[in-house]
Amino acid sequence: MAQALRSTRVLTADGLAPATLIVDGEKIAAVCPWNETADAVRRHDFGDLLLLPGLVESHVHINDPGRDWEGFDTATRAAASGGVTTVVDMPLNCVPETINVEALEAKRAAASGKAWVDWATWGGVVRGNAAELPALIKSGVSGFKCFLIHSGIDGFCWVDECELRLALDKIRGMGLPLLVHAEVAGSVEAASESLHRNGANWQQYSTYLASRPDAAEVEAIRLLIRLAEEFQTPVHVVHLSSARALPLLVDARNRGVPITVETCVHYLWFNAEEIPDGATEYKCAPPIRRSENRERLWQALKGGLIDMVVTDHSPCPPAMKRREEGRWDLAWGGISSLGLALSVMWTAMRQRGYQIPEAAECIAKWMSARPARLAGFLGQKGTLAVGADADIAIFDPDAAWTVVESDLHFRHKISPYLGAHLCGRVRETWLRGQPVLPSDQIAISPRGREQVRT
Ligand SMILES: [Zn+2]
Repeated sequence: MAQALRSTRVLTADGLAPATLIVDGEKIAAVCPWNETADAVRRHDFGDLLLLPGLVESHVHINDPGRDWEGFDTATRAAASGGVTTVVDMPLNCVPETINVEALEAKRAAASGKAWVDWATWGGVVRGNAAELPALIKSGVSGFKCFLIHSGIDGFCWVDECELRLALDKIRGMGLPLLVHAEVAGSVEAASESLHRNGANWQQYSTYLASRPDAAEVEAIRLLIRLAEEFQTPVHVVHLSSARALPLLVDARNRGVPITVETCVHYLWFNAEEIPDGATEYKCAPPIRRSENRERLWQALKGGLIDMVVTDHSPCPPAMKRREEGRWDLAWGGISSLGLALSVMWTAMRQRGYQIPEAAECIAKWMSARPARLAGFLGQKGTLAVGADADIAIFDPDAAWTVVESDLHFRHKISPYLGAHLCGRVRETWLRGQPVLPSDQIAISPRGREQVRT
């Protein structure tokens, strides 16, 4: 039986307006005027709540199978709690790493019956696995991810230009992107060694910040632009932190180089000046930089140079954060935030003067449509349009709340967002035509499935 979901504020291709979505099975069958609902349908009236396309979170670390750092069950519950309806998992923190088809099958087995939202995965490009890439493409990865610096995981080796070339040669012409952690090892190693030599205090955030200089990002991005241009193959810069790389990217985009860029919610929300010494829950790489840098990222996002915003949710067990020692050089790098992104971005945008229609349109572009396009789901995910999956975030834009532990649905309740005062909250998340959040009253089982490129 078809369903009708209506609100005075539904975000479709025509902008934010009163509308009724007719959902037939898993798909949006029609977008109708607000007061027009077909007969014999189940009706849901959401009043003035915003109906937004479900978020597509293209950068998360689920760490499953093989590590008890997160897992599909908790990660996708957290995603659903924040209006995220599709997650794309990174290939490195699972065991085995997703660098061949056998490992991809192991991840599929781990996800089976546990995912509350739809999921996909990036394959890994590591030293010596270029020959595995064609089979991974055939088996349904969304694209590939590699590092130009130690990834933190010994089994996921970083690559140099020579190996990048081997990988790009295999990916060329396939339409899949190569995602790259854009920091080069040289500048980071030189900075860290010099800090250690000079007896720097590693409990101070300023020491960690100095150990991951802007130059490491700038140099990596210069290399990626050169290769994307030469191979004419889409390259995607993950988690851009340094605004100093922006001029290079402007120039590359003006020349038509196929390079796209994401930044993370934490680079847009926090700033280095406010990070307490020893507070390793803020540790990520590249690091959170100063507020002046943050505002330049916002400008680049507004201007369209930065394509999208992701969480890079990267959890670990509490002990690995080594909070008692507070040593930035010893703590695991990665910020946990899955499920909070929509509210954080909404709050940050309001602080910068965005009004509701524009804010909703930007969020849908940065956090749904463009990540969906990157991962190859365009038309099916990340849009409220006829023929697309009925993946919907139902959002109350005015709800004011403070993040406490019980709001975190991922496994280890560590996050620099604890205590944050936020505006706007997801009330319901619908996955392919049905509400997904489990509640006490209704027993719902996980319906998430693997999403492949369309
Ligand atoms: Zn990451």
